[in-house]
Amino acid sequence: MPIHERLESVYAEVLARNPGETEFHQAVREVLESIGPAVGKHPQYADAKIVSRICEPERQIIFRVPWEDDRGEIHINRGFRMEFNSALGPYKGGLRFHPSVYLGIVKFLGFEQIFKNSLTGLPIGGGKGGSDFDPKGKSDREIMRFCQSFMTELHRHIGEYTDVPAGDIGVGSREIGYLFGQYKRITNRYESGVLTGKGLIYGGARVRTEATGYGTAFFVNEMLAARGDSFAGKTAVVSGSGNVAIYAIEKVHQLGGRVVACSDSSGYVVDEKGIDVELLKEIKEVRRERISAYAERVSHARYVAGQQVWDVPCDVAMPCATQNEITGKEAERLVRNGCTVVAEGANMPTTPEGVRLFQDAGVAFGPGKAANAGGVATSALEMQQNASRDSWSFEYSEDRLEDIMRDIHTRCLETADEYGMPGNYVAGANIAAYTRVADAMLALGLI
Ligand code: GLU
Repeated sequence: MPIHERLESVYAEVLARNPGETEFHQAVREVLESIGPAVGKHPQYADAKIVSRICEPERQIIFRVPWEDDRGEIHINRGFRMEFNSALGPYKGGLRFHPSVYLGIVKFLGFEQIFKNSLTGLPIGGGKGGSDFDPKGKSDREIMRFCQSFMTELHRHIGEYTDVPAGDIGVGSREIGYLFGQYKRITNRYESGVLTGKGLIYGGARVRTEATGYGTAFFVNEMLAARGDSFAGKTAVVSGSGNVAIYAIEKVHQLGGRVVACSDSSGYVVDEKGIDVELLKEIKEVRRERISAYAERVSHARYVAGQQVWDVPCDVAMPCATQNEITGKEAERLVRNGCTVVAEGANMPTTPEGVRLFQDAGVAFGPGKAANAGGVATSALEMQQNASRDSWSFEYSEDRLEDIMRDIHTRCLETADEYGMPGNYVAGANIAAYTRVADAMLALGLI
């Protein structure tokens, strides 16, 4: 889709100001392409330069993270926190520890987070952070020392009313524990609401661990229902085998579908009887092993090294690994194999060409900022519980999550209808999210 003529110069400015940050360019372009109809309908946004303002982060923090490994050798990593937009609430978004992290990745994630958080309808702004630190192969003590060093700088920038980080790739409850411990130690404050994704014994919320994956499965359930269908008898393929993938698989099974394959960066496993989630949890969460270990333990499962999981035929595809894992090639293969629903558990896992191919083929395509918003939404519920020093039951928390995902789904479809693009979840999500942020920014004056 072409960019609306009033937004062309905004995109040109983003390219010029953020050279070489291709993932950020991609994320901005996708939003600018789809909000054209809203720009035409609301000239007051353009007059106030809302889009240009949204594309420029409010604050960018880059810092040195020195740490010592178990042999006493010193390493230097780079830490980031992108405080992108706080019109709707404190900056909110995860921290990613992965060697691929650089400014362009953190910016794309922070930018997406503004819209995702807006879509939840909850009072959270958008931010993201992380480091090019590689947690793979590191000992527990090394992880702890790295987290402590990272927080030694980060603590001065965050706070329950300012900026509330959480996890993302490479950052789970173990890392959040070490980060929270260091924050508490430096500030002398038991400020539970400064981080989310905490362990249950020190202020965490039930269902936060499961929330992104569960939420994505709930979203698919709504997409199927909107087509008069359900998970019954459907096969699904999930990429990844981390936190998002594991709980997406668990919920798809509870909803009556069958996930026949999942993956990691080395290859994928196929289990036609349905992935055994308890075994997957043991392999990935307890032993921290590779996915090939699954096929070693399940005699009827097979492991395929070095290939993409999208070769496996399915009705529903749920990319839950990382950005740009479904290009045009993989999208074509999925369509050819009969896939009719795609929902992104990861952030921006489908390239623009892949999205176009799905939409042209009539595949229902749920973009990450809608389909995976359950994680951050449940983080906002964790903030609510922390603020009231309360702790909700699993059932109550899960019901809230399901309601939120249903509302997001409805908002996407209603907005797509309103702007003359029925069934287009990408346009619906971007326009609904954008107008909420834009209205808040107009109300707050020139910020
Ligand atoms: N990293 C997650 C996301 O991409 C969760 C962020 C949060 O809970 O703050 O939305």
